[in-house]
Amino acid sequence: MSSTPFRLRFAPSPTGNLHIGGARTALFNWLLARHSGGQFVVRIEDTDLDRSKRVFEDAILHELRWLGLDWDEGPDVGGPHAPYRQTERLERYNEVIQRLLASGQAYRCTCTEERLTALRADQEAQKSGRRGYDGRCRDRDLGPDAGPHVIRLRVPDGDTVVEDLVKGNVRFSNGDIEDFVIARAGSADQVGMPMYNFVVTCDDVDMGITHVLRGDEHLINTPKQLLIYAAMGATPPRFGHMPLILALDGSKMSKRNGETSVGAYRELGIHPEAMMSYLARLGWSCGDQELFSVEELTSLFTTQGIGSSPSKWDMEKLVWVNSQWMRSLPADTMAARARGFFAARGWAEHPREAALIACLRERTRTLVELAEAARVFFGDDYPKDVAVMAATLPAAREILTGVVDLLSLQADWSEAALETAVHGWCEARGVKLGKVAQPVRVALCGQKVGPGLYQTLHVLGREVALARLGAAVSLVP
Ligand code: GLU
Repeated sequence: MSSTPFRLRFAPSPTGNLHIGGARTALFNWLLARHSGGQFVVRIEDTDLDRSKRVFEDAILHELRWLGLDWDEGPDVGGPHAPYRQTERLERYNEVIQRLLASGQAYRCTCTEERLTALRADQEAQKSGRRGYDGRCRDRDLGPDAGPHVIRLRVPDGDTVVEDLVKGNVRFSNGDIEDFVIARAGSADQVGMPMYNFVVTCDDVDMGITHVLRGDEHLINTPKQLLIYAAMGATPPRFGHMPLILALDGSKMSKRNGETSVGAYRELGIHPEAMMSYLARLGWSCGDQELFSVEELTSLFTTQGIGSSPSKWDMEKLVWVNSQWMRSLPADTMAARARGFFAARGWAEHPREAALIACLRERTRTLVELAEAARVFFGDDYPKDVAVMAATLPAAREILTGVVDLLSLQADWSEAALETAVHGWCEARGVKLGKVAQPVRVALCGQKVGPGLYQTLHVLGREVALARLGAAVSLVP
């Protein structure tokens, strides 16, 4: 345990569903908060009014909960720093902007879009020299009545160094950072909508955030944010920028080379525990260990384990990780999850659900695979080319007739009783069990491979099993 509890946050923009990159960011921040015995905050960055939607916020929170994360403060649970949606914090931003204006660390700028465009064109034509805003309004001391204006931060000379937890020190020259806009155009009585770099900093200060782990793509924003911290007279958090998640071939992840939304993996039958374990290893390591329980992760996770090279999204590995959880999750958890996948296929509750799941969970790698393997155990929905398959097997008619005769008299349909009966029958006739099992299994399920014979018989139930065996007998030539 660290001595001071950390405060971390996940700050999604509700402009789409939760993607795997965002999920990893949320997870790493959550893990560090939990590891330190600190707090985790969810904040919604919805200042992009055109693209932000409440349905996306709901979906993101839903996926985070599915993944197994919880938060101490957030839009849905409240907390001491509420509200947790940026559009509900505009008054506070205005207050800070007024303070920065009063102290001269920010100023009003009335330069028009046309002037700025012409300035850019000029700078480009000159090839060398200063880039970005030329500071025309810097010392004009414009008041609120100056007409339509934006608010810019007065960027001092010198360098800004990001002391990154992952990359080490990264130095930026302030000369390359123009006096950037912190609030869009507003009027005398209304400051315009504040910009991302400003609101994120303001919130991180107000919410006492101590550490920020986020994707590489934000590194470019960090010097600007550090300049805002300085202007506000606030201590910045520690930053750590994590390398991108790439597709297996090294290209950028996109729909074309794999699913990118967390929901898609849930629908593919990935368990949240597997997703968490797999995501944790994308950019973080602890020796050679590949599988982690949530308890292990919260106890082992520190920023020292975060690597500086990009990780690759490997579906095969995720599925392998998932298969480990297929074997190890408690039976009632498996049953509750499997039931959802059965219901999605329109299947009513299975009378021997526990036995059904028990015989399939170790043979399948995802809940979708499990559900598909369960298909033959629901109703009459099983391959109907049984006769053709069964007929190709040696002595099929003789074996199937014998087994039907035997099992018709069998009242106790437990696995153990079925085993005793079939075993006894094989021994009495001197036939090997394997010879018997194959045509029987094909007759029952239309497949040569599958769960154990007694499990299959038991899970199908007496009536269905005898009906299928009988049907096969009548079809075998
Ligand atoms: N809202 C930003 C995003 O969704 C995150 C900002 C941050 O982590 O500082 O990328």
